[in-house]
Formats: sequence, C-alpha cells, structure tokens
Amino acid sequence: MATAMTFNRMFMIKAPIIVPQCMKISGADDSTLWHQRYGHLSFKGMNILTQKQMVIGLPKLKESNEKCTNCMKGKQQKQSAPKKSSWRASTKLELVHSDICGPISPESNGKKRYFITFTDDMSRKTWIYFMYEKSEALTMFKKFKALVENECKQAIQCFRTDMGGEYTSSAFNEFCDTHGIRRQLTAAYTPHQNGVSERKNRTIMNMVRCMISEKNVPKSFWPEAVNWAAHILNRSPTFAVKDVTPEEAWSGIKPSVSHFKVFGCIAYVHVPDNLRKKLDDKSTVCIHLGLSEESKAYKFFTERRKKSVDVLSCMRPSNSFPLLSATLQASDADGIVVSQITSFQLAC
Ligand SMILES: [Zn+2]
Repeated sequence: MATAMTFNRMFMIKAPIIVPQCMKISGADDSTLWHQRYGHLSFKGMNILTQKQMVIGLPKLKESNEKCTNCMKGKQQKQSAPKKSSWRASTKLELVHSDICGPISPESNGKKRYFITFTDDMSRKTWIYFMYEKSEALTMFKKFKALVENECKQAIQCFRTDMGGEYTSSAFNEFCDTHGIRRQLTAAYTPHQNGVSERKNRTIMNMVRCMISEKNVPKSFWPEAVNWAAHILNRSPTFAVKDVTPEEAWSGIKPSVSHFKVFGCIAYVHVPDNLRKKLDDKSTVCIHLGLSEESKAYKFFTERRKKSVDVLSCMRPSNSFPLLSATLQASDADGIVVSQITSFQLAC
C-alpha cells in the first residue's frame, strides 16, 4: 500500500472499518440434496415420482446440470430398459424371484459376506436378508415366506432362481415340495433368464457404491447401505409397475419419503438426562446409517462416551469403530417409534 509521508515523518493509512459479517456457505440446492437422499436416483426417476405423485413428501425439483461425481464413480454404464417379459404375475406372491450377491469384501462389521434378495413379481417390492454363508439361503427363504404370507394372507406359488447349489439342495427342494411351491430354475450362465433378480442386485450395488463414496462411509457398513438402498428402491419408479411404487403396489398405501436423509450424514442425537452425567454433552454426534432392521427407527453410528467426538475421524475407514445402533423417536411411513433417546437433528 503506497502512502505519502507527512511533515512529522508519520504515514497516514486510511483503513476501512470492517463490518462484522456472518458468512454462510451456500448449501446444495434441493435437487442435489434429494438426489443424494434418494441414493443417487436419476433426476428423470425423481421427476416421474413428483409428476405422477407416487410418493408423499418429495418437493418439485428442477433438473440439475451439474454432473454428480459420485454417480460417475459408483454406477456402471446406463442400464437398458428391461425387455418386456412374456408373462407377469397378477397377484401378490404368485411368483417370487430370488438371487444371492457375494461374497462381498470387506465383510461387514457383523462378519456377514452375502445378501439374498426376494422380489415379488407383481409389485416388484424387494426384501433383503444378510448371510455369513450361501448355505443359509433356505433359512432366509423360510423367514421371508413366514413374513410375507402372514402379511398378505396368501401363499407363495412359484419361486424363480438360478441353479446355484444353495437353491437346489435336497433340503430346499423338499421344503418347496411340502409347501406346494413350484420351482422355476434358470439355466446356469444365462443370467438374463433370472433378469428381475439380477437387475435388482445390480441396481442395489450401484446405489450402495454411490452412497458409500459420497460420505466416505467405511465399506464394512455395506449391509446398512444395502438395506437403505432396498428401502429407497421400494419407493422408486420401476419399468415393471405402472404409476405406483413397489411399496404401494404391495401395500396399497402411498409411501411417504419425508424421513429420507442422506446416507452417512451427521446427526446430533439428544441424550436424555437419565443417560448422562451433569457435565456431559447434551447431544452426541452420530452418523446416519439408514433404518433399523425393523425399519421402525433411524440407525446411527456413534463413538460412544467420548467427551469430544472428532467427526472427521468417524468418517475415516477403520475397523475399530464400535457399532452402536440407537433407536429413537422417529416418524416414518409406519408411524411413531418411541424409545429412550428422544430428540435428534439431522444435518442433511
Ligand atoms: Zn449422484
């Protein structure tokens, strides 16, 4: 700064007074935020959801021109529209598709390496179960069968899978025989015949890669991401069902998505008085990991009992994290869940 010397050898500097300002980083616009909340669903897909009013709680969005780097990293080439299949089930559980994905590396925090999907052909709603070994397929099928048959008071009629050993064991065949379930086994190395399940697994894994890379969530949390992806896909448009989401086609109820938050985002969970000492922080920083297994409450990860939680260290891949699932009061499509922790705030 150049300034002239005055007669008494002083230098006069004119400095403007800086008015204190509160700076704000402008956040992502609504479209980008909802793209992230929806597990990186295409803008086209989200527009279909709003135009056809297929879900409750999704605002009208404008298409973003920005390229999403996580989509480019996480998704494979654009998936082509599935060929029209010659036959479609007209009632629930008339046909169920299934496939196994794995082994997935790294194994999960709970040492699981596989997941199995069951998709109802009529509604295209998908259920997920996690397994240590492929050989647990029959146990999971029994669990799924009990759940869905009880829910819709109908029996599974036909079950379509590939010819993997886990589906063709004598125990599996016997179980299907005794329950009058017809089998459709697709030929080995022709995955397109088992197209519905194959495509579903691919879509789930694409979504999981995007979500994990977005917030740098440790990869060992993949089951949480897979669960959340299935929850999202059951509330997303699909080629196979017209004008409703799989969830609505299955339950007849239009789902709400107002509880959707970005997978891996920070949450401040309030710790109730009886769970903390006088000088403890009133809230604890957690990472949002989708929904609890029963889909009744949010699931969070936290480094418990540390006075100050370094948020960045939570996001760094590490095997040493204790996994804590905190169930708290949350409202979702299924209603209100009340448990010990009573308030929370999600950052995004
Ligand atoms: Zn994206």
